[in-house]
Parts: sequence; C-alpha cells; structure tokens
Amino acid sequence: MILVTGGLGYIGSHTCVALQRAGHALTIVDNLANSKIGVLERIRALGGGSVEFHRADLRDGPALAAAFERHPVEAVIHFAGYKAVGESVAKPLEYYDNNIGGTFVLLDTMARFSVHRIVFSSSATVYGDPQRLPLTEDHPLGAVNPYGRTKQFIESILTDVAAGTPGFRHATLRYFNPMGAHPSGRLGEDPRGIPNNLFPYITQVAIGRLQKLRVFGNDYDTVDGTGVRDFIHVMDLAEGHVAALRYLLEKDRSITANLGTGRGNSVLEVVGAFERVTGIRIPHEFAPRRPGDVASCYADVSRAFAELGWKTKLGIEDMCRDGWAWQSANPQGYPD
Ligand code: NAD
Ligand code: UDP
Repeated sequence: MILVTGGLGYIGSHTCVALQRAGHALTIVDNLANSKIGVLERIRALGGGSVEFHRADLRDGPALAAAFERHPVEAVIHFAGYKAVGESVAKPLEYYDNNIGGTFVLLDTMARFSVHRIVFSSSATVYGDPQRLPLTEDHPLGAVNPYGRTKQFIESILTDVAAGTPGFRHATLRYFNPMGAHPSGRLGEDPRGIPNNLFPYITQVAIGRLQKLRVFGNDYDTVDGTGVRDFIHVMDLAEGHVAALRYLLEKDRSITANLGTGRGNSVLEVVGAFERVTGIRIPHEFAPRRPGDVASCYADVSRAFAELGWKTKLGIEDMCRDGWAWQSANPQGYPD
C-alpha cells in the first residue's frame, strides 16, 4: 500500500492514476483544502485499481495515524501543501504551519509506523534566481519567497532525518512547470479563483471565463523577450513518481532529482502552440514584469534519466491538446 498525501490535487490525482496502472494499491489522505471530492471517483475510474480515501488534515496526528493503521504502508508520496507564491508572501505563517507543520506530523507518524520511504514534492523554486542554466541539482539553493523556503526547509529536514534514521530513504523531486492534463479530459487543473499560473489562465481565456492574457514582461533576454520555463506534461511528471518510488523500493538509496524536460519554452511559444493545436486565438497584451520572476529557468535532467531511468515523452503541443481536452469538457472545473 502506498499512502499519498494531497492525492486529490492537480499533480497528486494524475500520479494516483499512474501508480494504480503500475500495480500499486493506494490510500489517499487529503483535507480538500484545495480539491474536490469528485476527483476521487475519476481517479478510481481511470486507474482501475484499489484506492482508499481518508479525509484528514496532515497536522491532525490521530486522524493521520488512522490512515496508517488499516494496512501496512510501504512508502509515502507527499504532495499535500499550499503552493501559491503570492499568498505565501501575504500569509507566511499559514504556509510554514501547513507545509512544514504537516510534513513534521507526517514524518513523526511514519516513524511510529516504521515507514522509511518517502517521495517528496519539491520545486525548482528552491534554486531562486539561476546563476547558470540548465539547473543542475548541485546549483546553490536560495528560495526567494516563503513558499519556496518551506520547500527548502523540508528538503533539509528530510536530509537530517535520513542521516539520523537507519534505513530512511527519500526521493526529493524538484518539479519544473507542470502543465496539461490526463488525455481523457477527465482529470486536470482546477485552480480556485483567477489562476496565477500561465497555462490555466490561457485555457480559461480560451473557454471564455477570462478576457485576455497579460504577458508579464517582453523585455527579458530570451528568444522573444518573454519568460522562458521548462514546461512538463503532468502525465510525464506522474510517471516520474512511479520511477522514483521504484528507485526507493528497489535501489534502497535516497535521491534528489529535477523533473523537467530539459528544454525551455517562452510564454509566447506556449500561446502559439495552444493556438495552433486548438485553432482558438488567445487575445493577449504585454504587461510589466511580474515581481520575483526570473527570465529563464530550465532543468538539467540527466540525473533523473541516469538514476531513475525516466525521461519525458510528451511535448508542448501534447500539453496544450490534453489541457484543452480537460478545460473544454469541464468549463467550470470539477463540480462542487
Ligand atoms: P494542489 O493544491 O492541487 O494539491 C495539493 C493537495 O493537498 C490538495 O488536494 C489539498 O487539498 C491537499 N492539502 C493541502 N494541505 C493539506 C493538509 N494539511 N492535509 C491534507 N491535505 C492537504 O497542488 P499541486 O499542484 O497538485 O501540487 C502538489 C505538490 O507539488 C505541492 O506540494 C506543490 O507545492 C508541489 N509543486 C507544485 C507545482 C505546480 O506548479 N503545480 C510545482 C512545483 C511543486
Ligand atoms: N505568466 C504570464 N501571464 C500570466 C501568468 C504567467 O505572462 O498570467 C508568465 C510568468 O511571468 C512566467 C511564466 O508565465 O514568465 C510562467 O509563470 P507561472 O506562474 O505559470 O510559473 P512560475 O514559473 O512562476 O512558477
């Protein structure tokens, strides 16, 4: 049994499908802080395996322990947390409490149940402003906002716990920019309120919920002046977790690895790809740079390939096609 925290969220839900397809039985723990219960039935339908669900907050130790009690847990995949950079600046204590506090209770509970394997959702944001590209895992860390700092602290906590606990192994996965959806159009990204991220903003313009995209900055030193990111299809990212889990269970070593494509695409390239794939025009205008943004950010993915045997298979057009399949079939996201 694999216990998945935050399994009803965007990346967690897609990963739960991939994990079932790889033969894993799952227990999901989620408090629905940023997800809807209807996702569960879709995860079950698309994955075809066994999925138990516990509605619980990670910070509630007894409720979390109840999820560990039913079946022996082989490993944990830990997605649960808050992830909005801007909100983390406004509400740092909530971010430290939920992300670090939640991880603390989780690790404590794992220790009580002698569970020694964890895959953790970290982020490229831990690198801060890139000093060199592509970003390798040994690039200095320097998160520049409270959200990023929670990820950086949790990485340190995992390193410390591994050093002090014989047999404890972690796979720390630094995601770049996940985008797209399950190809069925049944699972996808369903942000609350106005999206902060580029791709859900584009799909909501396409569906008519938003009027026009604002492109933050067109004077960066990049191919066309707009920001460049390493966009990764969420299904490739999901498979990266299956590979990391296999690594932990078979190789019995810890690893920190970037999960990206290794290529950068600019904001205007993403808009162009979306328009080509869907035939829908995305009205957009240039706006000032967004504070805190870097010009370019993309991964060196050689470690993930060498160690996990994983690399991405899908490109930007696949992300646009599948993301649009989701948004067009679910214009308002998941039902309440
Ligand atoms: P998401 O918000 O869609 O999913 C997170 C899930 O965790 C939600 O279902 C939410 O209800 C749940 N949750 C939050 N706090 C909880 C708590 N205390 N107890 C139980 N459940 C809780 O986010 P996502 O995009 O799927 O991201 C998953 C993880 O990956 C997060 O840790 C995020 O920081 C990290 N990450 C995401 C991105 C991205 O661009 N989406 C990039 C890098 C890293
Ligand atoms: N972006 C944009 N308009 C938007 C949202 C994002 O131009 O409405 C740009 C943003 O400035 C950055 C890129 O798209 O260059 C990716 O931003 P996102 O927030 O999706 O991810 P980040 O890399 O910041 O985590």
